[in-house]
Amino acid sequence: MVDRQIIARGITDTAVLDAMLTVPRHLFVSEALIDSAYMDYPLPIGEGQTISQPYIIAEMTQALQLKKEHRVLEIGTGSGYQAAILAQIVSRVYTVERNNNLFMRTRKLFDTLKYHNVIAKYSDGTIGWKSESPFDAIMVTAGGEKIPQPLIDQLETGGKLIMPVGGLMFQELLLLEKRQSGTSITNLGGCRFVKLIGQHGWKD
Ligand code: SAH
Repeated sequence: MVDRQIIARGITDTAVLDAMLTVPRHLFVSEALIDSAYMDYPLPIGEGQTISQPYIIAEMTQALQLKKEHRVLEIGTGSGYQAAILAQIVSRVYTVERNNNLFMRTRKLFDTLKYHNVIAKYSDGTIGWKSESPFDAIMVTAGGEKIPQPLIDQLETGGKLIMPVGGLMFQELLLLEKRQSGTSITNLGGCRFVKLIGQHGWKD
């Protein structure tokens, strides 16, 4: 998976490559899908949600230019795979999930796999996690019409936020950088994610 899908497409950050070599992706999908766990496409994880294609995970993670000491907020815990990748690279990952079944299942998995630096919360992630802010980086793994303002507010100056932004069927992956002088946005290209649902997202 890492050679053919990730390195071949130009991902060079060794921390990202090491994390993807380390985290056993098949433990984050249902038993019925184990044979497809390392394939080059997204997979269903129950509750109408999906785990992203491995390359997208690598691209989003690399874009945040993470450092060991960083504290990162992820919105949309889902299967927990993306949070597990982040947890290999940074000191602490805060992850929020709005679907209670996924939240319960994945929190148990983090315990079983001993991801002690992942802190999971059942909540609407579009309002962020104010008490733990500011974050060095924020990754939103569901698509919305715009970047929720509370997330921009809870990002450290100098920090980066990545999120799929656009319509229901198709979005652009936007990388926001917050600087003293203001924010800048880079468009990393088209993508397709499930809906970000919440106060600052789509209606349920
Ligand atoms: N990062 C996940 C991808 C999961 S798909 C993984 O590695 O598997 C996106 C997830 O975002 C879904 O589980 C969905 O329930 C969740 N989600 C959607 N809107 C949300 C919100 N406002 N707050 C938190 N989670 C949300």
